[in-house]
Amino acid sequence: MQAYEATLDYARDQDQVDILYSFRERFLFPRHNDRDVHYFCGNSLGLQPKSVAYLMQAELDDWAKYGVEGHFQARNPWFSYHHLFSERLSKIVGASKDEVVATNTLTVNLHLLMISFYRPKDGRYKIIMEAGAFPSDQYAVETQVRMYGYDPADAIIEIKPREGAYIIEEDDILSAIETAGDSLALVMFGGVNYYTGQFFDLEQITAAAHKVGAYAGFDLAHAVGNIPMRLHDWNIDFACWCSYKYLNSGPGGVGGIFVNEKHASNPNIFRLGGWWGNDEKDRFKMEKGFFPQKNAGSWQMSNAPVFNMVAHNASLDIYDKVGMKALRAKSEKLTGFTEYLLKQVTHLPFEIITPTDPKRRGCQLSLLFKERGREVFDKLTENGVVADWREPNVIRIAPVPLYNTFEDSYRFYEILMGIQ
Ligand SMILES: *Cc1c(COP(=O)(O)O)cnc(C)c1O
Repeated sequence: MQAYEATLDYARDQDQVDILYSFRERFLFPRHNDRDVHYFCGNSLGLQPKSVAYLMQAELDDWAKYGVEGHFQARNPWFSYHHLFSERLSKIVGASKDEVVATNTLTVNLHLLMISFYRPKDGRYKIIMEAGAFPSDQYAVETQVRMYGYDPADAIIEIKPREGAYIIEEDDILSAIETAGDSLALVMFGGVNYYTGQFFDLEQITAAAHKVGAYAGFDLAHAVGNIPMRLHDWNIDFACWCSYKYLNSGPGGVGGIFVNEKHASNPNIFRLGGWWGNDEKDRFKMEKGFFPQKNAGSWQMSNAPVFNMVAHNASLDIYDKVGMKALRAKSEKLTGFTEYLLKQVTHLPFEIITPTDPKRRGCQLSLLFKERGREVFDKLTENGVVADWREPNVIRIAPVPLYNTFEDSYRFYEILMGIQ
């Protein structure tokens, strides 16, 4: 048990010994009344690395200088631009570099991966997902099911928290999988639930899915760059994520996918084709016949959106310098400290619905207000705190270990204490 103290001195002492403290300097903070805001919204949109502007200019210069020749002549040739990311991404999610690719965007990737891994037939057509999943995921799953002529109310099994609870019991997920048995085609779960911040046991869920002959895929939007994972070792079939949350790659930034090598190298796993997914050496032959690459790159469709990948490049460099291990060590402590501070706030009507066990959460904490939630949120905003409000009654805050400090959390606490 960590012995925290609710004082500014304690917070500053922690910042002094924080080996990641200097990384804050690499990011641009919005301003409020001529001061940096207290930014707790990295779970929604990460901050801009200062290096993005320079790297963006370099691409503009190469385009100006080389025109079409930039595909091969640019400092980072556009033809192979996506290769810039695989190794660094693979370390973040725990995979080999052939199992990951930066491509498309999250919901698009979810659809493309479901085209490959949701192939209902012979009574095996059901999908298990979490109740209250992010709307885009709900829409994706609903329309996939409809595409094959099923009724979502029958084909989609949603796992809910128990009566009066906010967190889903892992056992309920596992037993639903077992009960669905050979009617189950796919478990499609979030890694971290966007609303509660609950991190699910991806390995156990995957094992349970495989036991009944189903695939397991995960939307890691709120897990990637937040919690270290071992997607390959956990035997996960596929996953996808966006890069603009913890990965700081800018609004609408390029998404990413993981496909286990046992599937990626298997030509019998159907995938929709596009020239960038085709075997690279034949890409410009313009011949008939789609021959997918034998790796996750085969889920690419179009040539790389270079300008949409520049910030990704900048941000992954920072991730590479820090490493997920050091990031997670700070994250557990910083979120633990923030949670401790929040527990000292007894005059406002909220409870923290995020799991208390650090293994079952990332850095985000969700504060559920029984009343006055919106009013408290507005007062935080007036005082230079950037948090986010989720209907109907939750304030989410994410002390992000890459650029938030212990003092940030203390200042947030101080402002909260001042709200009467
Ligand atoms: C942020 C988020 C999305 C957003 O999807 P885009 O396709 O990137 O717009 C989808 N699902 C989850 C779980 C998210 O957290």
